[in-house]
Amino acid sequence: MINAKNISVDHSSICEGFLQTLLEVLRPKQAYPLHEPEFTSNELKYITETIESGWVSSAGKFVENFEKHLADYTGAKKAVAMVNGTAALQIGLLLAGVRPQDEVVVPAFSFVATANSVAHCGAIPNFVDISSHSLGIDVPRLRAYLNSNIEKTSYGAKNKYSGRRLGAIVPMHTFGHPMDIEELLTVASDFGVPVVEDAAESLGSFRNGQHTGTFGLCGAISFNGNKIITTGAGGALLFNDEHLAQRAKHITTTAKTPHRWRFFHDEVAWNYRMPNINAALGVAQLEILEGLVQKKRLLAKKYQEAFKSNKNFDWFDEANGNRSNFWLNAVMLREQDENLRDELLDYANNINVGVRPAWTLLNKLPMYSNCPSDDLTVSKTVEISLINLPSSPQIMNENTANA
Ligand SMILES: *Cc1c(COP(=O)(O)O)cnc(C)c1O
Repeated sequence: MINAKNISVDHSSICEGFLQTLLEVLRPKQAYPLHEPEFTSNELKYITETIESGWVSSAGKFVENFEKHLADYTGAKKAVAMVNGTAALQIGLLLAGVRPQDEVVVPAFSFVATANSVAHCGAIPNFVDISSHSLGIDVPRLRAYLNSNIEKTSYGAKNKYSGRRLGAIVPMHTFGHPMDIEELLTVASDFGVPVVEDAAESLGSFRNGQHTGTFGLCGAISFNGNKIITTGAGGALLFNDEHLAQRAKHITTTAKTPHRWRFFHDEVAWNYRMPNINAALGVAQLEILEGLVQKKRLLAKKYQEAFKSNKNFDWFDEANGNRSNFWLNAVMLREQDENLRDELLDYANNINVGVRPAWTLLNKLPMYSNCPSDDLTVSKTVEISLINLPSSPQIMNENTANA
């Protein structure tokens, strides 16, 4: 069953030990995908309702319901649903005032959508390093980067070297773990730069009792199929400012002025609305969200206990003050060796254990290789040592679930 022919002796014992540790936690099963959705709520019922009523697309009650329940859960004043998380992030940046030829600070360690949403605004990402304790932007290093690169002018913060305006900072809450957002807000306000949170992975995650994505000007959530809950594809922006939320709604729904039958649009806008049939799925998923968070936190605890006795890996835990959704569990290989990491990934995936490496750093992707960047020492270390573990709540061994 296990093809060990390409694995060196010492590496093979690390690989086998890794699998052993995982199997202490996982329910006996054929395959363990990295993350699977769970549909144990009213998903079919609500979707059927949209089909029976004919309202599957751009009108119907589920979008409004979804936005209301999402705002209630997160404590945001308003939530505006959109077609996906990338689109939500792009709209958030536009509302923050980001314009073509601006620069936007993002972590080098993130999913490509964080940088793409900046590029979709015609702006240029600046890559900064992450902290090993949060996996989000390292705030003291960010301050040092801004101190040496940014000067304040009458039209805002400006990059001394490129001459371009700094339009926004986009912190990301990696794998659901809230980053040091309060400290980041202080730095951003010292430089007069708005903050748009990439909270795509962190629905259900709170920092000191406040939901991620509600600290900055606005925060983007994703409901892609691999996220903690899904609408098939979908996203949303969270707002504390009702007026800004109305703007978001207007420009993501073709800027049509309200009228019973007239087609009048008062500006160039986007068709980024979430279809009603997707929102129906979302309303059902929100009903079980808190239960999913609890199960994922329990799975994380089981992994943490199991990895205590495996000396080749460090478990990645949440920081003080955080209630993480533990969207994706992660361990760090102590021996920082890319070949070992790749052997481990091959070994596990060959037997259908869905472990994954970290993202390739964004500054290494061809379209972003010429963007301004700070020293990325921590990001580089995390890139070669981090491994994500299968993280669907359903995969937990029932015998250990209540232990
Ligand atoms: C998933 C994700 C997004 C974008 O979400 P989509 O809905 O897939 O467009 C953005 N940023 C991060 C960090 C993500 O993980």
